[in-house]
Amino acid sequence: MRPCELIDVVTVTVTVAQRRRRAVACTVAPVRAMRVVPGRLESAEFVWLEEPRLRVGEYLVESLLVGLCGTDRELLARTPAAEVPLTLGHESLGRVVEAPEGGRIPVGALVVGVIRGACTAACDACRVGRFDQCRSSPLVERGLYGADGYGSERWAAAEDRLVQVPQSLGRFGVLVEPLSSLVKGRDRMRAVRGTLPIANSDRLLVAGAGPIGVLAAWLFGQDFAVTVVVDPMPSDAALAALGELAWVEFTQDWATIAGTSVDAVVDCSGSPDALARSIEALAPGGVIVLEGIARDDHAGLLPAALRNLVLKDATVCATVNASRAQYAAAAQELLSAPEGFLAGLLEREIRPQEWPEWAASVKPALKTIVRFAADVAD
Ligand SMILES: [Zn+2]
Ligand SMILES: [Zn+2]
Repeated sequence: MRPCELIDVVTVTVTVAQRRRRAVACTVAPVRAMRVVPGRLESAEFVWLEEPRLRVGEYLVESLLVGLCGTDRELLARTPAAEVPLTLGHESLGRVVEAPEGGRIPVGALVVGVIRGACTAACDACRVGRFDQCRSSPLVERGLYGADGYGSERWAAAEDRLVQVPQSLGRFGVLVEPLSSLVKGRDRMRAVRGTLPIANSDRLLVAGAGPIGVLAAWLFGQDFAVTVVVDPMPSDAALAALGELAWVEFTQDWATIAGTSVDAVVDCSGSPDALARSIEALAPGGVIVLEGIARDDHAGLLPAALRNLVLKDATVCATVNASRAQYAAAAQELLSAPEGFLAGLLEREIRPQEWPEWAASVKPALKTIVRFAADVAD
């Protein structure tokens, strides 16, 4: 038994002197972590914490990669600001270094941590393992709300918070979490289209060419002859990644969509204007999946867009978060993705100590990955 095994998890900043004392007392090493007070960008730091203490049944995981995304930026700008810091990081890839007795995931396995776990109230959804549809409030999400994330050198998690991913996936495993919500959205789109008497698969429209939009063009696009991606301000990396997909047509100009018809829409833009234009292009009986969270206040667009949806007999689906099964499905999907496409998505890497600079930067790359360990295989 580890000396600290039965002590509750606490994460506090410690001084070097304290670390020396604790190293003697607990025989475990401290870790460094990406810490921030949500809503206080200036508090971003890479700082020493106590070693994560393992509760009974928990695994100890060595961090390999952590992905940063727009959700992290929203956390940095959250209002009102929080009172206490948390460890950032909801897109993870790690390696098991210590497994509990009877654990089904072996030491050395690659794992991804899931954002939500079962709620303490054991709601109807969590009782059947669908914590992504948890009915409790407030939600607890690692790296986002009320719980430390995966942006530390080592972290602890129970088996129901872990998804083992194939070793051959290598560094691309860090894309499992962002892809998982898209897998859920594609499942829903397929389910709806399966009930339609006429479900043409000629044209798909993807609004937004950020990391999620680019992944959507690949994942959803496999079900359609042509995928049109629209983004008025794409990054060079997004254009390069989309260039790897033979079925994608890209445009910066919504005017080129006007008057055309698409069979389905995936919105990854979070832009009410883009959503209204997408609905305008949607064919009668079409399906729309919302993957972006709407920004700004464009209330005037809403009545016209809703009227359009009704008159077109459209089906609207939306997703946030994903089940463990959808995480696992995302890992399997990634195994078949073109390597050049995935490598383009992971174009920019930083070291953990550089994350405060990322937080302060204005224009992000397509996707930024924080590399904790050098030995992550491709
Ligand atoms: Zn994310
Ligand atoms: Zn619940």
